[in-house]
Formats: sequence, C-alpha cells, structure tokens
Amino acid sequence: MADSLELFNFDDKEIVLYSEKRRLKTFLKKWPNDPDWACTPEKLAAAGFYFKPCPEAPDNCCCAFCGKELDGWEPDDDPWVEHKKHSSKCPFLNIKKNIDDLTIAEVTRLLMNIALVKTEKFFDQKQKQFDAQAEEARRVLQDHNSV
Ligand SMILES: [Zn+2]
Repeated sequence: MADSLELFNFDDKEIVLYSEKRRLKTFLKKWPNDPDWACTPEKLAAAGFYFKPCPEAPDNCCCAFCGKELDGWEPDDDPWVEHKKHSSKCPFLNIKKNIDDLTIAEVTRLLMNIALVKTEKFFDQKQKQFDAQAEEARRVLQDHNSV
C-alpha cells in the first residue's frame, strides 16, 4: 500500500484525512457556526470535508478527496448537496459505500480517481497561466505594432 501511495504523491496529512473520524476531529472546539444549523461538523465530515479556517473565511472547509474548499455556509446548507454542486467530479462523492468497507480494488480505483482530479486541476492551472502569458505577449506585440 505504501509504495502505491508514493506513486500518487500523497502526503501523510491527506491520507489521514481520508478517515471520517479524523476529519471530524478537525472541527473540535473551533467550528464557528451554530450547532443547530443543518451543516454540522458531523455532516460536513461525513460529506468528505475537514475544517480549514483562515482569517478571511472562518468557516472554510476543504474536501480531503478533491481539494474543493467551501466557506460562507448558510444555516440550511446540506454539505452533500453543496459538495456535489461545486465539485461534481469528486471521487469521494462517486463511491457508493462506506469508505471503511471498500475492497482493495475499490481503494485503488478511488486513489487513481483522486490522482486524476489532481492532475486535471494542475493542468487547468497551467492552462490559465499560459493563457495569461499569451494575452500579455499579444498586448506587447499590439503596442509595439501601433508605435
Ligand atoms: Zn470532494
């Protein structure tokens, strides 16, 4: 297992957060929202999120599987619905049983899907950087031609 995880370049912190109990622990004593709200730490952890607050977003949560971060939770928000709405390709959302009950083949498939999502995000960012550089180069050329 360790060798295959190295192949996917996961760090220990990410692996630990695949556990729902570990994700739930991140909310202890720090979750700023009302306990009567629909989006409780228990529901957030069950939906794949761990608590990752920052000064600009004190209720920020991050999915341990797809890396999607959501904040500004509303009293009636359902973490599963919000997760699906904002990250429909999340590999965690597409497994149909408890993660602790997955077979080795299913875990392998999950890890491959996580790697695929990460790879797509990486290339999306690179594409955006390239597009921005191309736009800047185009602007410089246009300025040069108009002189
Ligand atoms: Zn996710």
